Amino acid sequence: MQKELSSYLHQLLSCDRYNDYAPNGMQVEGKDEIRRICTAVTASDDVINQAITWKADALLVHHGYFWRGEAPVITGMKRQRLNKLLRHDINLLAYHLPLDCHPELGNNACLAKLFDVDSVQMHRAGNTDNLLWSGRLAQTMTHTVLTDFLNKKLGRIPLSVAGNDKLISRIAWCSGGAQDFIEEANRLGADAYLSGEISERTYYQAKELGIHYYSCGHHATERYGIQALGEYLASYFKLEHLFIDSNNPV
Ligand SMILES: [Zn+2]
Repeated sequence: MQKELSSYLHQLLSCDRYNDYAPNGMQVEGKDEIRRICTAVTASDDVINQAITWKADALLVHHGYFWRGEAPVITGMKRQRLNKLLRHDINLLAYHLPLDCHPELGNNACLAKLFDVDSVQMHRAGNTDNLLWSGRLAQTMTHTVLTDFLNKKLGRIPLSVAGNDKLISRIAWCSGGAQDFIEEANRLGADAYLSGEISERTYYQAKELGIHYYSCGHHATERYGIQALGEYLASYFKLEHLFIDSNNPV
């Protein structure tokens, strides 16, 4: 079951297509029999504790371990996390870029549905196909109205920068820490760009390029893909599924 699940996911999410910052797929091998799966944005200590309590056989996340450039030793918090997973025989599977870009289950695809946009298009950004998305809002909005709209949809008030005084119809978005695609979004002709985080420089980019910017939360923009994937797998493989929305204000 364990091998079947990981090879199914490898195909489904087209993992071979990506040159990612972390390994996609099985990161920590656990028990072979998988009946109960948990999903979460990040494989944090809190998430692992909840997965243990729920008696999960596998944990699927967007942010796993072994990131490029990370110290190649197992000490401190990394040891603590791995120790808990190994002791409880929990499989850890992680999908990063494949889960941002997937046309139906990915974070950006889920945001398209959440924001109710049409004329959706996917674009190449940062050497990755289909990472930056754009589309048209159902209604034209002012900067303030779009702030309220995003607050209602994502459950938090975005940190926003008004780039001009024009109305917003076409938006571009990329989940997570993708604020630096603001120039690409501007080149696409978007009126506003939405991502998860903001840098000091983003403020000037929004003002000087003349594009509205919304920092909607890294966690808040990435809780949808992994959840959709969990629900999909639960029905396909007849598994029990629990999404753990371990709060993270960033
Ligand atoms: Zn992320």
